Amino acid sequence: MTMQLGTVERPLRVAIIGAGPSGFYAAGSLLQQKEVNVSVDMFDRLPTPYGLVRYGVAPDHQKIKSVAKVYERTSADPRFRFFGHIDFGEDIIHADLRRHYDQIIYAVGAQSDRKLNIPGEDLAGSFSATEFVAWYNGHPDFADLEFDLSCKAAVIVGVGNVAMDVARILAKSADELRSTDIADHAIEVLAHSNIEDIYVLARRGPAQVKFTPPEIKEFGELANADVVVAQAELALDPLSAAEAAASTETQRNLEHLQGYAARTLTGKERRVHFRFRVSPVELIEEDGKVSAVRLEKNQLRADETGYLNADGTGDFETIPACLVLRSVGYKGIPLEDVPYDKRSGIIPNDQGRVKHAESGEPVIGEYVVGWAKRGPSGVIGTNKPDAAETVATMLGDVPDIPPAPQPDPTAIDGLLEERQLNFVTIEGWRILDKIELAQGEAQGRPRVKFTRIEDMLEALHAEIHLKG
Ligand code: NAP
Repeated sequence: MTMQLGTVERPLRVAIIGAGPSGFYAAGSLLQQKEVNVSVDMFDRLPTPYGLVRYGVAPDHQKIKSVAKVYERTSADPRFRFFGHIDFGEDIIHADLRRHYDQIIYAVGAQSDRKLNIPGEDLAGSFSATEFVAWYNGHPDFADLEFDLSCKAAVIVGVGNVAMDVARILAKSADELRSTDIADHAIEVLAHSNIEDIYVLARRGPAQVKFTPPEIKEFGELANADVVVAQAELALDPLSAAEAAASTETQRNLEHLQGYAARTLTGKERRVHFRFRVSPVELIEEDGKVSAVRLEKNQLRADETGYLNADGTGDFETIPACLVLRSVGYKGIPLEDVPYDKRSGIIPNDQGRVKHAESGEPVIGEYVVGWAKRGPSGVIGTNKPDAAETVATMLGDVPDIPPAPQPDPTAIDGLLEERQLNFVTIEGWRILDKIELAQGEAQGRPRVKFTRIEDMLEALHAEIHLKG
């Protein structure tokens, strides 16, 4: 006789792949259920949890990181286990999960970035903003990247909030950043930066920017940089003016930009230039690396849906720069044995239930949350209702799913042991967290991060919390 899933005797066994905000909101929602008893195992390829809260949110935006307290409460639930430093597709595969769990949630985010597809994009000195972000946030995979800040200008392509983050980090003085949890290797490089002019390029107009008002407002408060906006570039065509009139957020952005255009320069060390209706068409090379960006000026043209596209005018200009950061959006990457929609870069799904990319048939017992579900949009909090939707779908499916053949939680420990895999438990993470916080306290900073996996494992080695 098979026991009913979701009871105390036979809890619903759920695996979550990815320990970022979307994974944690899904875990939190599952563990809060009163009618169903759930046990959650969360896997992450890094030894540390919290995903983009740790490696994406800007170091000078510490308040946003306090959301981790919510995740700490979730992880304190005795029915929750963390398996850090376990790579899905490598250490543990799809078939393992199907054997040991009744339901699987993919919470893997969007781990790659979109490209500009212009000549010179792969030159030295040209990076995705996400690489720069991961580097200054101490992500172990990016700790060895080298950024050349020896010339006078940097160009950032795109006007979303990630572009705002990287522009601000380049504009701030090392002293302003030193009091944050920015990686030490980044502080060393930024302290010697010669960058004086930071150009942020919008291919469309000021009414179509993706950044939010608090982010653009911060530029007016920078101690070390003036903001430069040309009045002429703020002019709106009638369709853009109509778009602006319909959105208070756009109007607030425009007010901030108008305010900057009216300012006179105060002679600060750096300048952040916001440019509109310009597209990079080529990165120009000198001595094997980027030396300038060739731009084409654009005009806006509505397509049949009313969407305003940027059309080149044939009018070009060149900005010398040794660093180019493209900040044009993240993109998902496919997971082994999991459906993937190449066009949108997401795991195809209906309200979080994974479906086959071609047939549209549901994949029984497999679900998705966060950026992997809806694409790289929204703020951290967006993931809470998003995860709740997926959890509602999962619970509705429980009566119809076949129970996992080997649901015993200890079977997972056995499997990892057999494969001689070291993994970091939630207690292990708490030890790392404590060490980072103590190191931070000694320096008057929120924390000093480990930036190498070996160092994390070494710090845990004497502890029982590195299992394997
Ligand atoms: P995003 O908001 O989607 O912005 C992408 C930008 O790239 C847009 O300005 C887009 O312009 C531009 N772009 C795309 N393709 C381009 C091309 N080929 N050439 C030139 N420009 C191009 O993405 P994001 O900045 O990566 O942010 C991702 C999500 O994280 C967003 O939801 C964001 O709000 C969130 N986030 C929030 C915070 C915060 O709350 N502080 C911080 C960081 C990130 P078009 O509009 O013309 O396509």
